[in-house]
Amino acid sequence: MPSATREDLPTIDVAIIGGGIGGLSAAIALSALPNLSVRLFERHSELTEYGAGISVAENSWKVLELLGAADSLTGAPTVPGAKRNGYTGEIVLPEPGIPRKRGPTRVRRTRLQSVLGAQVPEGVIKFNKKLDGTDTTADLVVGADGIRSVARQSLFPDHTLSYTGNTSFRTLCSAASLRHIPDFSLQTSWWFGVGGHIYMSPVDDPSHPDAKFEFSCRSGLEAEVDGKTVSWGIPASNEKVLSRYKDYDPRVVEALSQVREGDWKEFALFSGPCIENITGWDKVVLIGDASHPLAGAFGSGAAFAMQDGWIIARAVEHARSSSAPVAEALRVFDSIRSPYYQKMYAFRESQKPLLQKVRQDKIENFDDTLRARMSQTGLAGKRPEGWMDWIYKNDIEQVWEDYVKSEKEKEELN
Ligand SMILES: Cc1cc2nc3c(=O)[nH]c(=O)nc-3n(C[C@H](O)[C@H](O)[C@H](O)COP(=O)(O)OP(=O)(O)OC[C@H]3O[C@@H](n4cnc5c(N)ncnc54)[C@H](O)[C@@H]3O)c2cc1C
Repeated sequence: MPSATREDLPTIDVAIIGGGIGGLSAAIALSALPNLSVRLFERHSELTEYGAGISVAENSWKVLELLGAADSLTGAPTVPGAKRNGYTGEIVLPEPGIPRKRGPTRVRRTRLQSVLGAQVPEGVIKFNKKLDGTDTTADLVVGADGIRSVARQSLFPDHTLSYTGNTSFRTLCSAASLRHIPDFSLQTSWWFGVGGHIYMSPVDDPSHPDAKFEFSCRSGLEAEVDGKTVSWGIPASNEKVLSRYKDYDPRVVEALSQVREGDWKEFALFSGPCIENITGWDKVVLIGDASHPLAGAFGSGAAFAMQDGWIIARAVEHARSSSAPVAEALRVFDSIRSPYYQKMYAFRESQKPLLQKVRQDKIENFDDTLRARMSQTGLAGKRPEGWMDWIYKNDIEQVWEDYVKSEKEKEELN
């Protein structure tokens, strides 16, 4: 079929719901295509974010480059981070490594959102516009409205979320306020305890005068509160957070105590079952957390959201190059991304026994239990070389090239 030229193409109206990491990425990539009228609707009055820091691994760097946003993103280069017994501070897994440019990096979430926002053409983002799934007309609707997606609810009314039993307390605090603590490292580290852990990391170059340090404290012992549905950033008091970690190493307790009252945010983590196909009605596509409502997607939820945003643009471009309708773009997108998310759900399922074990541990003999766990192959254990490259090193451009190649081969066979 001959390729359509720019002039032939009728303009298609694109409505993106949600100005988070996925929506912004889709807006950048789709706005770069000819004859598309792109609008992004964000319910807040500005680009907001919750949640302290975010990990940027090779998968994210790759897609940030494709989106033209990699050069302006700064953060703290990290190595995987020593894993410690939370109570004694003993290092049980050193995880040595050398931080490198464009290697794993922890960044402030605000920075990631603003470097993406800066790449979105003027006028595309419409603030203060909360969509309820019924009040816009468009040829293509991109549901990028996060874990509590209205777009998903409209497409799949029977799909429900439930509390995972895990809550995360997160904040950024001044790195300078921690420097007085003797023998306390301002490097990335993990401190494990019964039913939870604390991840801590710099998120800025330490020479930055206002360098921040992140605490992300996971608790798997929080009771489910009836009717509580908030998963994104409600305030938590210092007393509440400290009470969960009072038996930890005194350096950790001292460090957590430096957080200013009012700065902690609590995230009750919700998730829902895997959705087989993440498109519908020949015009709606779900991306980011809307498409795979997993609380805890291996610290790569942001990467997935950005990859989705870039791939939907490739799929639209591909379909339009042969004058195919939007439905064909959705088919292409779904055939690339749904199997990936299905694999992720299956992988998480395979890790469940290990995660359940974490909750059953006792403080007595905790060191033995932790060491045993670290020596196993598993989420927190010794990792066979490259065991998670399909996530952390996923090169989305290569994924796209492979797809195009395999389609061509199929065509040639027919
Ligand atoms: C505690 C916690 C820690 C995390 N840590 C990491 C990490 O370290 N690394 C990582 O990669 N990922 C992490 N994630 C996951 C990551 O935050 C998400 O995967 C990512 O933000 C998904 O982007 P998104 O654009 O799909 O959704 P979101 O970032 O949630 O954005 C959704 C946007 O849609 C808007 N919106 C919602 N409803 C409507 C509506 N009806 N109309 C208009 N606008 C609407 C919202 O205001 C928001 O701006 C973490 C998540 C949590 C909860």
